[in-house]
This record gives sequence, structure tokens and C-alpha cells, in this order.
Amino acid sequence: MNAVFRGLRARLEAAGVPDAAFDAAQLYRFVTGRDPRLEEAPSDEESRRLEALAARRAAREPLQYLLGEWDFLDFTLKVGPGVLCPRADSEVVCEAAIEKLQGRPAPVVLDLCAGTGCLGLGVARARPDAQVTCVEKSPEAWPWLQANTAGTGVAAVQADIFTWYRTLRAESVDLILSNPPYLTAEEMARRMPETAREPAAALDGGPDGLDFYRLLTEHYQTALRPGGWLILEIGCAQAGAVLALGRRHGWHSGSCRRDYGGNDRVILLQKPDGKYRQWDGKAEEIHNKRL
Ligand code: GLN
Repeated sequence: MNAVFRGLRARLEAAGVPDAAFDAAQLYRFVTGRDPRLEEAPSDEESRRLEALAARRAAREPLQYLLGEWDFLDFTLKVGPGVLCPRADSEVVCEAAIEKLQGRPAPVVLDLCAGTGCLGLGVARARPDAQVTCVEKSPEAWPWLQANTAGTGVAAVQADIFTWYRTLRAESVDLILSNPPYLTAEEMARRMPETAREPAAALDGGPDGLDFYRLLTEHYQTALRPGGWLILEIGCAQAGAVLALGRRHGWHSGSCRRDYGGNDRVILLQKPDGKYRQWDGKAEEIHNKRL
């Protein structure tokens, strides 16, 4: 291990960066292309670049923004200021969607509040026959969505989901997935420094964090075909409230799944298809740890 790397790590630790050793190693590899355990010292130019990145990370800019890309499932997304960083927590949302599309040929899929497009792109990679559209309103996030969807066959639409549902044809969609903003006002006020650097528009779910779930459960059922699915990422304390919204707005087969950290993370709601007449009350207790 060389002195430059040790200094970088110590600087991030002193700044209170969580996982400082990991972040230091990532930044070191990014700049030098070498393993930080090697003795070989960085060149002057590399040291200058490392110094600039260390200052930004010590000021708690997200590591993802500094690296400019981040892995999600089995692929890599472009990421930077203006868009929510893809998170490992969301992978289970994508996996639930892929599972629910099994047996549906050439499905039509919407990813609402798409950000980088991680969820929609993950579905499209698993299902090349799917017709996926990612919808994002924010002008700051939009270039990232465009960059990530370019050349993939996934469509990107810049629109506000609070009105966009009016443009959709009834019973034309197989599955809708979304990681909407869901932090409460209190959580917004207590954000970690890194999360405070991410766009508020991607995080702020209104006073109780549920504004987008009210919209999605109320207005996005018409567009789904009977038996179609609405698959939502949630905050770990929101399962009961979002399932209750689903029930109120006539969804069936409501259930919740945990992420790989063991937190409630996904709500699955199905549009009635004639086979399910009753809300399955017990489903609220169902947790499948792995798919
Ligand atoms: N998981 C994010 C966080 O806790 C929130 C993402 C969202 O609001 N959709 O920072």
C-alpha cells in the first residue's frame, strides 16, 4: 500500500465518510487504474486528480457522481448530479417485475419516475421482447435517462406522471413499475449529506411520503390489462399504508417483499382479472425473502 492511498483513506475517514476505505479504493482505482495495495506511487498528474476527487468526496458528494457510473444488477448506468443514484435496494423491485412478466409474450412495460432508467432497463435486458417506456419529468435527470436508454430499444418520455396517465390507452399495458419519491417531510429534513446532494424531486414524497402512491394506485389501473401488475418500491415503514391504498383503489393480490438487506421494499398489486374477486387479506403478511 502506498502513502498516497493511505492519505486518501485517512482524509475520507476524518471527513466522516461512511465506508471510507471502500470509497478511497474506488477513487484510487478510477484515477490510476491500479490496485491500491500496490506500492507503486501515483504520478503527479494522478495525485492532482485524486486530490480533487478526495476534496469533493470529503465534502460528501456521492461516490457515484464522482465515478460517473454505477452498477445495477448485471449492467452499468451513467450517473451524475441531477439524478438519483441507482441503489442495490431497488434490484429486488426489478426482479419482482421480471418474475411477474413470465408467461406474458411481448409485454408492454412502463417505468414511472425512471431517473437513470435502472428499473426499466433491467426489465428490458431480461426481456428483449418487452416494449419498455421510461418516464421522467425532471429536466436535470432527463439527460441521464436519455444517455442510458440510447441504443437500447427502451423508449424515454419526458412527462409528469400526475397528468400523463390521461394519455394512456385503457388496458394497453402489462406492467407498471416505479421507484417514486417516498421520503416523508421529516426524513427529507434528516437526510444523510450524500442524499442531500441528490435531487429533492426524486426523494420528496410529500408530508407523509405517500403522495405518489396515492396517485399511482388511483390513476394507473385503467391503463393496465386485466391481471396486469403495479410494482412499487417503498420505504421500509410504508408497506401497510401502501397496501391499504391498493385495497382502497380496487387492486387485488397485494403483497410485500423485502430487499436483500431484510427491509420491506416492494409492494405488488394486481389489477383484477375476474379470477381474483377478494382482496387477499393474508397477503399483507407475506414476505418472500428471495424470489
Ligand atoms: N431509498 C432512497 C433513500 O432512502 C429513497 C428513494 C426514493 O425516495 N425513491 O434515500
